[in-house]
Amino acid sequence: MNEINNMSIETQCVHGAYKAESGQPQVLPIVQNTTYRYYDSKEVAELFDLESGNFMYTRLGSPTVNALEEKMALLEGGTAGIATSSGMAASFITVCNICQAGDHVISASNIYGGTHNLFGVSLKKLGIEVSFVDQDLPLEEIVKLARPETKAIFGETIGNPALSVLDFDKFSKAAKAMEVPFIVDNTLATPILCKPIEYGADIVIQATTKYADGHATCVGGVIVEAGTFDWASSGKFPGMVEPDESYHGLSFFEKFKNVAFSVRLRAVMLRDFGCTMAPMNAYLTYQGLQTLHLRMERHSENALALAEFLQNHEMVDWVIYPGLKGDKYYDLTKKYLPKGASGVLCFGVKGGKEAGEKFLSKLNLTSIVVHVGDIRTSVLHPASTTHRQLSEEEQIAAGISPELIRVSVGLESIEDIKEDFDQALKAIK
Ligand SMILES: *Cc1c(COP(=O)(O)O)cnc(C)c1O
Repeated sequence: MNEINNMSIETQCVHGAYKAESGQPQVLPIVQNTTYRYYDSKEVAELFDLESGNFMYTRLGSPTVNALEEKMALLEGGTAGIATSSGMAASFITVCNICQAGDHVISASNIYGGTHNLFGVSLKKLGIEVSFVDQDLPLEEIVKLARPETKAIFGETIGNPALSVLDFDKFSKAAKAMEVPFIVDNTLATPILCKPIEYGADIVIQATTKYADGHATCVGGVIVEAGTFDWASSGKFPGMVEPDESYHGLSFFEKFKNVAFSVRLRAVMLRDFGCTMAPMNAYLTYQGLQTLHLRMERHSENALALAEFLQNHEMVDWVIYPGLKGDKYYDLTKKYLPKGASGVLCFGVKGGKEAGEKFLSKLNLTSIVVHVGDIRTSVLHPASTTHRQLSEEEQIAAGISPELIRVSVGLESIEDIKEDFDQALKAIK
């Protein structure tokens, strides 16, 4: 039989990672416990020395969470994955795994509001400085921001909610020129629509809270590494290469090679920061992944249809959807997201912010929620909610205008979705 690694992503969604042995549960079981029994303390000592891959304590790993990590690594085409308590935790420990006070990161400015806060405010307080850059600038302009202490470059496959599409080719070239890892937040695309590792990403993050779960049941994150980055050659990553005192002088890169980043995330970041995913959440997210391929296809199809409908609506001022012909990112979408541009679109109603707020209040089927990626169509006004902590200038830099309405197009019949938008738009006339 063909190995699961060589099968198509649809089959990997359904069958990847957990496989029942004869007489075992067909569905991934929830192993709900904190700890693991041993009969010989030598075995426990081996766990502490990272000589054994067995489970020790659920903060550091557990079977249900492990199955989710393996499935996500498979889908993204990486060597290993680490699940976290949230998408924010995933971004935070990814940066902390390679940065310390005095270090510097370059990030696209068109990123998720929460990540923008983490990078621009909280990391700054820890002494890690992030330079935000317009991701559409030419390669030379981006590389100009590099400093000797630059440790990573970061961007989102599809910016949430700016809906910019990352030029992977350019960003991976910039990363190579700076000898730093290229980190991609792949939350809105998921590996169904885009596999950043195939385009040069070294580390891929997802907020599994969104499409991976897909049913709005649990907050979570995952980090997958490509396994190809050379942590030793530049001399920039002592934490990955030099002896770690807390593990008897072990060098992560030397010992764990193409999974070194993940092992360090588990052995140091999860150990010290404790942002572990709970087994129940891993179980629910895993259920979601089994239909991810179907959902992403329909989310994309419905979003394109709604975008086209809104574009032709007399009450709509503008629509942004990277899959729309004529969109600023249409060419990059064709190149990197050929199967679809995901389920999120943005638009502005005629009459600006006030008309927008009125429109939201008239929706029936569609929910107002702080979320994307759910099966239910939902809307949000970022300027007054998710991005309200940013200054107006920062909002504009993140692609947020005052009248912008973000839509996460769900899996209902497109006719019913259009009908709901149409009646709410007519009501503000
Ligand atoms: C939601 C989101 C996050 C943060 O995830 P949480 O699970 O809410 O912490 C990060 N990046 C993107 C693109 C997101 O949409």
